[in-house]
Amino acid sequence: AQTAAVSPVPAKPKAGEGGGVRRPEQRQLAVPAPEKRLVDELVEEALVWSSQHGLVVGDKNHPRSGKAPGVGLLHAPFSLLPMSFPKVYWDQAVELAPLFNELVDRVSLDGDFLQETLARTKEVDSFTARLLDIHSKMMKLNKKEDVRLGLTRSDYMVDGATDLLLQVELNTISTSSNGLACGVCELHRNLIRQHERELGLNPECVVGNTAIAQHAEALAGAWAEFNNQSAVVLVVVQAEERDGLPVAVVYFRAGYTPNDYPSEAEWRARLLIECSSAIKCPSIAYHLVGTKKIQQELAKENVLDRFLDSKADIEKVRKCFAGLWSLENDNIIMSAIESPELFVLKPQREGGGNNIYGDNLRETLVSLKNDGNNELAAYILMQRIFPPASLCYLVREGTCIRENAVSEFGIFGSYLRSKDKVVINDQCGYLMRTKAASLNEGGVVAGYAFLNSVFLT
Ligand code: ADP
Ligand code: MG
Ligand code: MG
Repeated sequence: AQTAAVSPVPAKPKAGEGGGVRRPEQRQLAVPAPEKRLVDELVEEALVWSSQHGLVVGDKNHPRSGKAPGVGLLHAPFSLLPMSFPKVYWDQAVELAPLFNELVDRVSLDGDFLQETLARTKEVDSFTARLLDIHSKMMKLNKKEDVRLGLTRSDYMVDGATDLLLQVELNTISTSSNGLACGVCELHRNLIRQHERELGLNPECVVGNTAIAQHAEALAGAWAEFNNQSAVVLVVVQAEERDGLPVAVVYFRAGYTPNDYPSEAEWRARLLIECSSAIKCPSIAYHLVGTKKIQQELAKENVLDRFLDSKADIEKVRKCFAGLWSLENDNIIMSAIESPELFVLKPQREGGGNNIYGDNLRETLVSLKNDGNNELAAYILMQRIFPPASLCYLVREGTCIRENAVSEFGIFGSYLRSKDKVVINDQCGYLMRTKAASLNEGGVVAGYAFLNSVFLT
């Protein structure tokens, strides 16, 4: 089973190619790519559609972008055609979504586990330390969150060497791009519908995306649980927003990066919100569950057993774990210094662009090791996943390029719990992102990846 751009289908890897480093390579086109005339036509139509339907982002090169509404907008970077995606992976990711939602909830209730697992990280990472301080204050106050809301996104890549769907990370805060993900799915359906015969593709195979509607539903569900008609939903886009009304739900669109806390005022606001009776999305505990360090701890032998009851569920979840290591183990540090291309070094950060790869990874490890302090505890090491590559048409700033590309696939989840009652535990829509196979990082907003949709095969 392989992922591929729908039109250019990649060949299966040759027998005996497994093991060792397998760099994504250019694969043969099994189905002829659309001829140039058709590609040009599709690009033009896609650009018009994007402008007409709000598939747009702020244009960084425009001085007034982000300052004046409707000014300095540019079409979002997108793949011209969807990514073909085998149904087995889709089904697996969909099945995992409620399990991960439940796991986040269970782990969030174990305050000692969070504090202990992140204790060494806390000493060297001041941002995580501040989050943990808020969390330990809540533990001292014995603060209980009866209603808990999670809007999550579990990200995966297909590992080309093993054909396994492996989790890249689990996001619990500010799981963005749901609007754009829905938009690009509509774009692809439209393009394929308009050119069904020429492309020879069935538009119904583009999986519909419900991310926006279902996340909104979960927010509304949480608001209803709060049970106060005059209460509002507060969306944190900048710190210290106040509106003089009771707040039922606080949604953090910001607050996941140190940049969102330029002064003590933002930290006070975060603490104030955490102390309040509002339903937080995420609570401080949910936020901490989403750290790379917790991801790594959960992947250790027998740790999942503390949080999930069913052996079958534990097996399913474990199956998508890639290799993850803490840097307490000298052997793994030596392996990474020897073969940095097989690993990703990750700090406790969100939003893309923070990971360390290749020669940089080696140099960082060597210098941290020589320093001898425990700075290493700020990071985890992860097995580098090499997804199979295929030729894609990628459109940015009106220009279409043909690129050997790989994809990352995320499933959104929503979870709403009120005391013992699980109100919502669902998968809800997806995010498919495609980037040049030669790139390390992958964010759309960060400028690396292109939005894409799933063409089920
Ligand atoms: P963030 O929270 O900043 O999004 P991620 O763990 O998702 O952090 O890493 C950012 C990007 O780095 C991913 O979108 C992906 O492109 C790449 N990446 C992360 N982990 C791996 C991995 N194990 N193998 C290959 N690429 C990875
Ligand atoms: Mg993340
Ligand atoms: Mg990510």
